[in-house]
Amino acid sequence: MDFKRVVIKVGSALVAPEGKGCSGKYLLAIARFISQCQEQGKEVILVSSGSVAAGRKLIAHGSANPSIACKQAMASVGQMQMMANWQRFFDSKCSQLLITHGDLKDRLRYINIKNTLRILLENKVLPVVNENDTVATEELKVGDNDNLAALVAMVSDADCLMILSDVDGVFDKDPHKNTDAKLFSEIDKIDDALYAMAGGTSNRIATGGMKTKIQAAEKACEHGIQTYILNGSKSEIFDRLLKGENPGTRFIAEQSPLKAKKYWLKHTLKSHGSIVIDEGAINAVVNKGASLLPSGIIEIYGDFVKGESVNITASCGTRVLAKGICQYSSQDLEKLQGKNSNDIETILGYCPSKEIIHRDDLVLITAGDAN
Ligand code: GLU
Repeated sequence: MDFKRVVIKVGSALVAPEGKGCSGKYLLAIARFISQCQEQGKEVILVSSGSVAAGRKLIAHGSANPSIACKQAMASVGQMQMMANWQRFFDSKCSQLLITHGDLKDRLRYINIKNTLRILLENKVLPVVNENDTVATEELKVGDNDNLAALVAMVSDADCLMILSDVDGVFDKDPHKNTDAKLFSEIDKIDDALYAMAGGTSNRIATGGMKTKIQAAEKACEHGIQTYILNGSKSEIFDRLLKGENPGTRFIAEQSPLKAKKYWLKHTLKSHGSIVIDEGAINAVVNKGASLLPSGIIEIYGDFVKGESVNITASCGTRVLAKGICQYSSQDLEKLQGKNSNDIETILGYCPSKEIIHRDDLVLITAGDAN
C-alpha cells in the first residue's frame, strides 16, 4: 500500500446496518485493517458516519422521515453509542472530533483542527471525526460525510482517502438493476458523464450516495490525494488492500499531495505580510527543512491574522525565501520576535503552538519561482 497517511470514511450502512442501532458486524474487519495499517507505520484518521442511524431507535419520531430536530437528537445520543462501538475494537485510544464544513472554511478553526490532528497522530491516538450534526442543519439534510472526509484528508495532509460503504465501487450502470454492470477499477478523469452514470443512492440507511463520493474523490484528487471507493461490508477487501491490490474503484491523482500543496501555498494563497528572519533561521528553514521559531525573527511587516499566509525574507535583499501559514497574528508576533519558544506562554498568556510556521505548512521559494 503506497500511502503514509490515510483518511478512512466509514458510512452509516456499515456502522449501524439495517437501522437497528450500532453493530460490530462490519467494524471488526475495518478496525483490524486500521490496526494493521498502524502496525506498518501508517497513520490513520477515521471519519465515521452513523450517529443518526445509531440513535434512531432511541428517539421517538413516528415517521419514516424524521424532522431535522429529531435527527439532531438522534445524532446526539447516537454519537456516544458510535464512539463506544469503535473504541471496543482498539487497544489504543480513540479521540472524537466533531466538526462542520463551516469550521473548515474558517481560517482560525482550520488551523486549530490541523494542529489537533497533528498532535493526536504524533501521540498514536486514532482520531474519529464526524460532522457536528446538532449544529450543522444544512448538512444533515444531504448527509455529507463523504465531502467532509475529503476536507479532513486535505487539512491533515493525508495522501490517501478510502471511502467505505456497501457498494463495490463505481459501475457503468446501476448494479442493483443490471446484472451486467461493469465495475471501473481505475478512474483518471472525473467529468459530468461520470456523475450522470453513477446516479443517486438506492440505500435507505446511507445518506450520501455515489454523487457525494465522486465529489469527494474529485476534491481529494485535485489535492494530490488518491481516493478509493470500497465495499467495507466485504472483509476480504482488506486482505487484498494489504497485498497491494485494488478491490474497488481507485481515482488516480495527477500529482503528489506535496506537489499539490506546495503549488497551493505558493500560487493560490495570498500573502498578507512578511517576516524577516536572521542567518540562523535561514539556515534552519532553508537548508535543514525546519519549522520557523520565534527566536530567528527580526522584523514583521503587514497586518495578518492567525492562519493567514506570509512571506519569509532575509534582512539583506528583498527576495522571498519561503512562504507559509502563520500560527500567530502579526500583533502577537511583534511580542514574540527574537524570543524563545518556551517563553510564548508567559509573554502572551497562551501558547497554541511552539512553531511560528510549522514546516508542514511552509514552502521554499526558489529564485526561478513566480510568486
Ligand atoms: N453525520 C451523519 C451521521 O453521523 C451522517 C452523514 C453522512 O452519512 O454523510 O449520521
